[in-house]
Amino acid sequence: MSTSSSSSSSSSSQSLKIGIVGFGTFGQFLAKTMIKQGHTLMATSRTDYSQLCHQLGIHFFRDVTAFLDAGMDVILLCTSILSLSEVVGSMPLDRLKRPTLFVDVLSVKEHPKDVLLKVLPEESDILCTHPMFGPVSGKNGWTDLTFMFDKVRIRDEATCFKYLQIFATEGCKMVEMTCEEHDKAAAKSQFITHTIGRALGEMDIKPTPVDTKGFQALIQVKDTVMGSSYDLYSGLFVHNRFARQELENLEQALYKVKEKLIQSIDE
Ligand code: NAP
Repeated sequence: MSTSSSSSSSSSSQSLKIGIVGFGTFGQFLAKTMIKQGHTLMATSRTDYSQLCHQLGIHFFRDVTAFLDAGMDVILLCTSILSLSEVVGSMPLDRLKRPTLFVDVLSVKEHPKDVLLKVLPEESDILCTHPMFGPVSGKNGWTDLTFMFDKVRIRDEATCFKYLQIFATEGCKMVEMTCEEHDKAAAKSQFITHTIGRALGEMDIKPTPVDTKGFQALIQVKDTVMGSSYDLYSGLFVHNRFARQELENLEQALYKVKEKLIQSIDE
């Protein structure tokens, strides 16, 4: 990871002025650790989070123009996968006073990369990231949890480095890979986990008096997945071009397992 320094409004210290767009579950989760580390946080969202933000010491902007006028080092996009294009497309980006680092946290990566390259001013830097954890897996700290990133367009290395340090100093496993590599791997791992969790949710599996450790693990998967929004799950499919094939692979695999079992009765 490059650590070369260049100018930034906060270059005299490690603290950053970070503006969160989309202050739902995941935006709030990240904000708490960022505040603990001494960064200055601001937020804007479709829903009015003024009261919650007040309690957390965050300035909340109902008006996105005033938010952009506030002059941030980093604009952190925490909207749903499905709404990113609409949200960023409706921001009056000509209000940006200076080159700004845009970071996204979406659980798919090619889609935000394409959208941001298309709509952001050329002078804005772009860091696509996916913290591979959430409020459940990260509730007792972020040590050893994976943080994926792709420096899509970075000229201000100092600000980018400071941002990545937020996760590195919490003990995250920092993994640099392309957005395409991420989406291929995540279709095989995260999307399959969510699909199985959703299927177990449909079956309404519950603890029994004779649970094995394996079954307890499945219940945990189901509970974690069902605790995240359906928009998130839908986004994993709609905006990851590798997901459809993995869904078909899963369907075929289940069919093969069933066929083999039925054959063994017939033999
Ligand atoms: P989510 O359902 O994926 O996203 C909720 C956020 O999107 C809220 O801030 C919501 O704004 C905003 N939003 C939804 N539809 C909108 C629309 N039409 N217009 C404007 N804003 C809209 O739930 P999430 O768990 O908070 O995830 C946020 C992002 O983090 C997603 O991109 C997800 O892939 C990523 N992520 C989540 C996790 C996790 O564990 N939850 C982990 C890693 C990455 P309001 O709150 O103002 O309604």
